[in-house]
Amino acid sequence: MSQHSSKGAEWDEVRLFVLNRDGWVCQLCGKELEGRDAQADHIVPKRPPFNGTDDPANLRAACEDCNKRRNGEDEPVRETWLSPRWFANY
Ligand SMILES: [Zn+2]
Repeated sequence: MSQHSSKGAEWDEVRLFVLNRDGWVCQLCGKELEGRDAQADHIVPKRPPFNGTDDPANLRAACEDCNKRRNGEDEPVRETWLSPRWFANY
């Protein structure tokens, strides 16, 4: 058993589930996804007052560009989309 089955690992599982479901194609621009470009975009943003969830129903495959662009347009406050938890073990 690994000590790494933390929230980060769970998110990675959900992300992969969404990417597989959507065929590793960006749902916003149709680009094929691989590596760093393969991201999961929250349809309803996570933070208040939106309070979107990490449920696959609230996620879609998106490339890095679309994800960044969308964050800029749809959310009142811009933030770095790539969460530090991707790079750190909690
Ligand atoms: Zn895209």
